Amino acid sequence: MTAPTPTLPRPLNLIAGDWVPARSGARMAVVSPRDGQGFAEIADSDASDIDAAVAAARTALETGDWGRLSAAERGRLLMRYAAAILADADALAALETRDNGKPLAQARADMVLTARYFEYYGGAADKVHGEVIPFQPGTTVAVTRGPHGVTGHIVPWNYPAQIYGRSVGAALAMGNACVLKPAEDACLSILRLAEIASGILPPGALNVVTGRGEVAGRALSEHPGVDFLSFTGSPEVGQMIQIAAARNFIGCTLELGGKSPQIVFADADLDAALPVLANAIIQNGGQTCSAGSRVLIERPIWDDLTARLAERFRGVEASDAPDAILGPLISARQKARVERYIAEAGALELARGRVAGNAPSEGFYVPPVLFGPVDPQSPLAQEEIFGPVLCAIPFDTEAEAIAIANGTDYGLVAGIWTRDGARQARVANAMRCGQVFINGYGAGGGVELPFGGIRKSGHGREKGFEALYEFSTIKTIVNHHG
Ligand code: NAD
Repeated sequence: MTAPTPTLPRPLNLIAGDWVPARSGARMAVVSPRDGQGFAEIADSDASDIDAAVAAARTALETGDWGRLSAAERGRLLMRYAAAILADADALAALETRDNGKPLAQARADMVLTARYFEYYGGAADKVHGEVIPFQPGTTVAVTRGPHGVTGHIVPWNYPAQIYGRSVGAALAMGNACVLKPAEDACLSILRLAEIASGILPPGALNVVTGRGEVAGRALSEHPGVDFLSFTGSPEVGQMIQIAAARNFIGCTLELGGKSPQIVFADADLDAALPVLANAIIQNGGQTCSAGSRVLIERPIWDDLTARLAERFRGVEASDAPDAILGPLISARQKARVERYIAEAGALELARGRVAGNAPSEGFYVPPVLFGPVDPQSPLAQEEIFGPVLCAIPFDTEAEAIAIANGTDYGLVAGIWTRDGARQARVANAMRCGQVFINGYGAGGGVELPFGGIRKSGHGREKGFEALYEFSTIKTIVNHHG
């Protein structure tokens, strides 16, 4: 498989169905992680562009075609959009590979999942029912669910297309009008996806404004015309979003990453576990909110499993090959950050992969590294590194494993590997997080499965019907008809 040369989107914003430059005329350069070279530009937007996008979304809802559509009509448009994304998946994947750096096969899988979000939420749009509550005689009480209104979406660079799909897919299905600010580090696939959408959705239903987080992102999060915020990214910025939401008395969902554990008991099927454990941290260069970045290993299988993991890690080569398992990290900054964690690990290095000799020297490649035994309280085992770095931690008892697994500020996903059914149920119930996988792992594909975290991993749920509920508000109508 070779990556075709992608057609680049223009450095414009989508506002009210039109493609327009930033009002200031400013642009910013886009650098490819594969070779560190600038290859495109995007609009460097400010608060005035966000104002225009929020106004366009409001108009689409109140006087435009979007607000007049039935749920079934909205659903039909989203399913048409899903089909159009699939038809363009190869070109979209090539663009994503150039912009985000992820290997072509992974980028293609992302596009299929992006389409799946619109298919799923298109199908669900007319299936969000209200309730009738028995109340006093002579009354009928209807509880209805409607859109918030204008929703603001701030998404990261690690899975730009997928996170765009999961966020605006659910919001549009509920009838909201969206303003989305993608990440400055990777947003070209989103611009292309928005271009496809603009041929299908009424003007103003979806508005996309590119630019810097602290300028355009901040303006969106603080905008008084926004009725609900959805944010995926770092805890530091997530906290700012929550404060901005509080100032405007609106709700928000925060999806902020994690330090997710996989607990491997001595009775586990290690042949089945091994590739999953490795993939959970190597896929997307470990730049995955639900990356399995800690593996907790019961002492009797410590030597065996760490030896097998080490062999796997040694065999991984970071490269710019289209079918590589591991591509470059997103930016020079992220590469430096991951390399700092590796240099200051303070734990025994069990294995290290390599960077391909022919990988472009200016690209942001980092080999995968396995450390163990890692002190569960050390920064390596506590902080989200967002790179291909796996911490192996031994344990002796089930209670100890649970304490270590729950012993970070995060709580997003956990994996449990054991053949013991009672233990599966006990440990799953004890996990303080939003998703648990038993004898498997991988949050990515489950469009239908509610996903999100607790504590520093954020709050609110994406995916599944839960996201439709997040993107809607309840109204109770009490009719005294006698
Ligand atoms: P970030 O939180 O800075 O960026 C995420 C999004 O927020 C981007 O669109 C960005 O433009 C925007 N943003 C930045 N500052 C903002 C502000 N003041 N107001 C409003 N929006 C703002 O994340 P990052 O710097 O790209 O990555 C840093 C760390 O965040 C990573 O190392 C990783 O730990 C974590 N992260 C997590 C996820 C996830 O999926 N949960 C995704 C990306 C990054």
